[in-house]
Amino acid sequence: MFIKYDKVEAVNLDRMEQRRIRYSVREKRKQADWDALADLVKNHLKKVAHDVWSGETVPVDQIAVDFNPLFSWLGGRYHPRSLIDGPKIELSKKMYVSKGLAYLYSVARHELIHAWQDYHPDGHPPDTHKHHGRDFWQWVDTLDTHRYCNY
Ligand SMILES: [Zn+2]
Repeated sequence: MFIKYDKVEAVNLDRMEQRRIRYSVREKRKQADWDALADLVKNHLKKVAHDVWSGETVPVDQIAVDFNPLFSWLGGRYHPRSLIDGPKIELSKKMYVSKGLAYLYSVARHELIHAWQDYHPDGHPPDTHKHHGRDFWQWVDTLDTHRYCNY
């Protein structure tokens, strides 16, 4: 439900309740902003996957893109399709706020390589120790990203 400020003012609520409602309205707006940003990232990844790998090698439409408010030093994480609520790319809110959109896209492309590993028969499954190995870094330059997800 969306509550307008003037509606809130019209109702004679006590100050604490007014403050609580204002806060939740602000949080919802923020969430809408994060959702819109996740859509931008997803469109970017669709274009990259289409340009680099043909067809549905990496089906970006099936991969959720979301922000994790708990990531601080970690830019992003790929959550493989074998896990419950996977496949999913999680990105750091904090790192986006401090480093900006170009950084966010770059981390998302890094995670996209993990998705390639997850879907392509030549890729190591993302939960093995080799997940930043040769099959990973062969794509790093092409996707113009970094080899590690915490930079
Ligand atoms: Zn990684």
